[in-house]
Amino acid sequence: MAQPYDHDNVFAKILRDEIPCKRVYEDPFALAFHDINPQAPVHVLVIPKAPYVSLDDFLAEATDPQITGFFRAVGKVSRALGLAESEGGSGFRALANAGGDAHQDVPHLHVHLFGGKPLGPMLAKQPESPE
Ligand code: AMP
Repeated sequence: MAQPYDHDNVFAKILRDEIPCKRVYEDPFALAFHDINPQAPVHVLVIPKAPYVSLDDFLAEATDPQITGFFRAVGKVSRALGLAESEGGSGFRALANAGGDAHQDVPHLHVHLFGGKPLGPMLAKQPESPE
């Protein structure tokens, strides 16, 4: 069953301007800001303005305009940051952790945008199991 939205989560507080962020983009659907603990030379989070716990919750419950608006914003941010190859950048990784196995820490949907260096494999490679 879906987890109820916690209006006291840190990204809800950022959306209400109760705590600061290093803002890089904002429109009616989304806000983007630098991650407080960057894992790459560029590490930005894009969040929807509406209260959705996770990608799972968002894709099940959001309206089509919210979904389109949010993912358009992810694209705009990747281009504005100069990461997108369409803008002469060298690429980026977009990642959304959803739920326990993915170690989602903040229960408000966020897409991480990583870039600025070769990012290596998507997941740590597991040793091959013997046949
Ligand atoms: P996740 O594990 O996918 O839920 O990632 C949560 C991310 O939020 C982490 O990369 C944190 O560094 C980041 N984070 C937590 N608090 C803040 C904050 N106040 N401002 C910016 N980023 C934050």
